[in-house]
Amino acid sequence: MIKYQMVDLVGQYKKIKPEVDEAIIEIMNNASFINGPAVRQFQENLQNYLNVKHVIPCANGTDALQVALIALGLQPGDEVITTSFTFIATAEVIALLKLTPVLVDVDPETFNITSEAIENAVTPKTKAIIPVHLFGQCADMHNIRQVAKKHNLFVVEDTAQAIGADYTCYQSGNTKKAGTIGDIGCTSFFPSKNLGAFGDGGAIFTNDDELAAQMRVVVNHGMTVRYYHDYIGVNSRLDSMQAAILDIKLKHLGEYTKARQEAAAYYNRAFAGNPKIQTPVTADFTTHVFHQYTLVLKGVDREGLMAHLAEKGIASAVYYPVPLHMQKAYIDPRYNEGDFPVTEMLSKSVLSLPIHTELTPEIQKEITDALLEYVNS
Ligand SMILES: *Cc1c(COP(=O)(O)O)cnc(C)c1O
Repeated sequence: MIKYQMVDLVGQYKKIKPEVDEAIIEIMNNASFINGPAVRQFQENLQNYLNVKHVIPCANGTDALQVALIALGLQPGDEVITTSFTFIATAEVIALLKLTPVLVDVDPETFNITSEAIENAVTPKTKAIIPVHLFGQCADMHNIRQVAKKHNLFVVEDTAQAIGADYTCYQSGNTKKAGTIGDIGCTSFFPSKNLGAFGDGGAIFTNDDELAAQMRVVVNHGMTVRYYHDYIGVNSRLDSMQAAILDIKLKHLGEYTKARQEAAAYYNRAFAGNPKIQTPVTADFTTHVFHQYTLVLKGVDREGLMAHLAEKGIASAVYYPVPLHMQKAYIDPRYNEGDFPVTEMLSKSVLSLPIHTELTPEIQKEITDALLEYVNS
């Protein structure tokens, strides 16, 4: 029996239950299920929180990425550079739109895409870059934007795992929220994400008025005037109940982030100096909101460790066991095993531990004791 899951969404709900229940009942009582006032209110509050001009709510994070790429007007065959070490959704939308995903390797410490790798992958066909702020810290946006500027590329941030992370540009000293640094930011409100709904949800961010207008058309069947469709769009909406729940949880996002950071600091202290464990490294230009707390194991039998933890009732998980270029659906003659050595090394040696808003030092002691017992044996 697993006592400690990767997340504790029930524990988190219990603390805000009266407010959430009331909001849901209100929506049922006035049947404002789609495009109700709750959606507009959440949109405005999220705009303020992120300090961004436009938030466009949509149905999920995958749609957010797809809508962004459609709105940019990319054409089949255009190349989009992204990381080989991410959740499949990032590459999926590129492939679905018949664009060409160009994968690059990542940094061994932050697990994020690097500007050097992007620069090396640019061709005359390159049109956009999708940096993923993996596990909760921002990619090197200053240098990524420099490459984008030099080659006239769009930057679409996949910030599904990093909502609330603060990025500080080391040239200007300006601090911005993840997802508001490039041309467009895309996020997910999947229940286990740092700002999670009680179902699916997503949003797109931009400071560009024209792109925002275009994306509002794309998410609504490409409709400009009611029943006049100037573009081929999609149907992608955030429903009112999810918006109401997210609006309540948004007020707590700061404390949720702090709880995750404190839990990460506990783990870091427990594992400090252990030669078999690389603890998460945060780049100096970003905060880390720890969507995942991910170790790199050095010379430890990962499957054995996971089984040992499971025996003690502790969940653990591998994000991600198979790099994109080795996924069956994405096999491509351009790529071979060995092409992305860091990604391939990470996929064999990373391990994520439970991290969420409801951890206590007592629970974390059980987790770290169990892990160290195996690693040090
Ligand atoms: C979760 C996630 C997505 C997709 O979000 P959904 O809401 O599940 O569609 C995209 N990219 C990354 C990096 C994610 O973690």
